[in-house]
Amino acid sequence: MTDKLSTLFDSGIYWFENSNAVFIDPVRAMNRSYTRFRVSPSAYYPRFFESKPTGQESEVSSNSRKRKRKEKKKKQPHALNEREKIADQRHQEVRPLLLKAHECLMRETDLLEVMSNLRSDFDSSRGCRDSVSPGVPEQSFVELGQVWQAPLYEITLNFDQCEKPNADGGSPIMQYSEQRVLPIFDNLVLNEMGDDVEAEFLNSRYVIPRESSFYMSDLGQIHNLIPADSGCGFNLIVIDPPWENGSARQKSRYPTLPNHYFLSLPIKQLTHTDGALVALWVTNREKLRGFVEKELFPAWGVRYVASFYWLKVKADGSMINDLDLFHHRPYECLLLGQCHRKAMDSKCLSKSKPVQDNQIIISIPGDYSRKPPVGGLLMDYVPGFKPARCIELFAREMISGWTSWGNEPLHFQELRYFIRD
Ligand code: SAM
Repeated sequence: MTDKLSTLFDSGIYWFENSNAVFIDPVRAMNRSYTRFRVSPSAYYPRFFESKPTGQESEVSSNSRKRKRKEKKKKQPHALNEREKIADQRHQEVRPLLLKAHECLMRETDLLEVMSNLRSDFDSSRGCRDSVSPGVPEQSFVELGQVWQAPLYEITLNFDQCEKPNADGGSPIMQYSEQRVLPIFDNLVLNEMGDDVEAEFLNSRYVIPRESSFYMSDLGQIHNLIPADSGCGFNLIVIDPPWENGSARQKSRYPTLPNHYFLSLPIKQLTHTDGALVALWVTNREKLRGFVEKELFPAWGVRYVASFYWLKVKADGSMINDLDLFHHRPYECLLLGQCHRKAMDSKCLSKSKPVQDNQIIISIPGDYSRKPPVGGLLMDYVPGFKPARCIELFAREMISGWTSWGNEPLHFQELRYFIRD
């Protein structure tokens, strides 16, 4: 096995030589957060592994073909308006970088071989996936958090579990040395231990990674995360807002918010004394890019430093859509900025590397709107001492060493997304 592949297996990241591109396997990258569990590849990757039997086509590709035909029809008589021209210019600038990164990927035959098996590699060979009765719906934390009983809901964290033999000779009984029962909403729930912890809420079970915490609330309560002492603030702030867009609305996977709501996010107050690297996921809508550059970053006190691009590919390495499809680009952008509580301190700046612009992150997308874990790629650019204090805003999952905030940060922590190691 090549060194690059063994790094991929260990860290989830494959570094292309002499390139500004990397390939990420989110499953392996996230597994670094867990000791007793592993992220289930088949649960992580519900899409983009379809093979096309001759004479048939997958739903995804047939939909995308319909969409392309529709766009073509629409496109012919339509001249670009001013905003679309700016968007197209941005696209033309990044296009050669994306093509180059994609060529790098297509040259790495050993990586392509691994990619085609990413959904299946260790699902069947290691341990068994906890059986979730088919048809048991996932909890809707968004809905539960809005009902009047929300303050009464509690989560039980079971620390230090061990198996005790069953006196009746039946299957072993789980024993817990400590159980903590805590309000699940509007409360910081912390696993400060060096091991994963299993938690129970209503009839479902969740995995809480080591040294991680979540605060599940609506945007209105986010100020409760502002530390009294800025020395307890965050050095890395990753934000994936529920931007309004046709696709999120149509699919109604989660509620969205108008742009002006995000102006009130207390980014500066969440920033550590040593400063923070702020990473913001944005869609390709030009109106949104303008809003972020002209209003949002200035309102947060964030200085723009660089853009990274997430290129989405299928398991066979091809892009999920044509690169030039106007409203359905196969890439998204991660805007990076720096935030400092006071005037910039040169000592702090010297502790972090300047961010290299235009880096390309290639991965196979997981569930709808799920972003690849970028913490490992950003860590070199994070100011302050290590380990950095990290927070994800509008999170749907947890990471070891991080705080996750949003109205459903436990969404992908449910046991159905894991395999017991
Ligand atoms: N980064 C996430 C991932 O990779 O899975 C996706 C985040 S998704 C774009 C936005 C999230 O914001 C959704 O979980 C949504 O429920 C949440 N959200 C929407 N409105 C919210 C509100 N008012 N307060 C807190 N979270 C909200």
